[in-house]
Amino acid sequence: MLDGKIAVVTGASRGIGRAVALRLGLEGATVIVNYNGSEEKALQVVKEIEENGGKAEAIACNVSDYEASGAFLDGVIKKYGKLDILVNNAGITRDNLLMKMSEDEFDAVISTNLKGVFNCMKHVSRQMIKQKGGRIINISSVSGILGNAGQANYCAAKAGVIGMTKSFAREAATRGITVNAIAPGYIQTDMTDVLSDSVKEASLDQIPMKRFGTPEDVADAAVFLASDQAGYITGQVISVDGGMAM
Ligand code: NAP
Repeated sequence: MLDGKIAVVTGASRGIGRAVALRLGLEGATVIVNYNGSEEKALQVVKEIEENGGKAEAIACNVSDYEASGAFLDGVIKKYGKLDILVNNAGITRDNLLMKMSEDEFDAVISTNLKGVFNCMKHVSRQMIKQKGGRIINISSVSGILGNAGQANYCAAKAGVIGMTKSFAREAATRGITVNAIAPGYIQTDMTDVLSDSVKEASLDQIPMKRFGTPEDVADAAVFLASDQAGYITGQVISVDGGMAM
């Protein structure tokens, strides 16, 4: 379905990004597996894609760094001559009640989860406009839609991602570029494994389907948005959350 496409997935060493990278690889795309610190895990993802008959390479880059993101994406475009799919998935949490939240906790989450998306969209935009096509998929969150106690920084970033998605979708709509967001609910990854049992139980209570999501649930939506079948969909936020945000 995605034969010949070049795809970048940020934060693809673990969790949702890893699942998206594996699925894109299975569909025939050449996948650039971006990571920040987890080199071994990123190389493992590359190995798995290759074992499934696909093509991939791992490239380190801290997406919150504007210059580094530019160098990373310019390098990919130079090497492959184009970039078809960008999945902005890299993200972190620094949870705290607003009253107790430090400036560092706020800034760290905004830098990675919001500015990181800007950095990568900005640095692929010129190439996608030039090639008259591209797919951008930004991973937001149910928290960016509903808000969440203890996550003012994260919710601000994820709501910001939705606004930025719709803005660039409008700017790029006549250029063959679609820009959409996915808002996952509670997905079982390292990010949610650290939550207490009481928080997990309370979260499950909020999910009409009464099960946590898997990284593959999100990957399926991402692959659809990257496919030709989604060519008339732009500026949308697709919830993959078992019904949490309906
Ligand atoms: P995860 O398991 O903690 O993985 C996070 C990934 O992001 C890792 O690959 C990590 O790479 C990468 N990363 C972090 N900071 C980075 C940076 N500055 N530059 C490049 N890569 C960076 O998280 P996850 O649960 O899969 O979450 C993935 C995305 O989905 C995030 O945007 C998250 O906010 C969103 N989301 C998750 C859930 C959920 O329930 N899990 C729900 C809604 C939305 P290294 O390990 O190499 O540092």
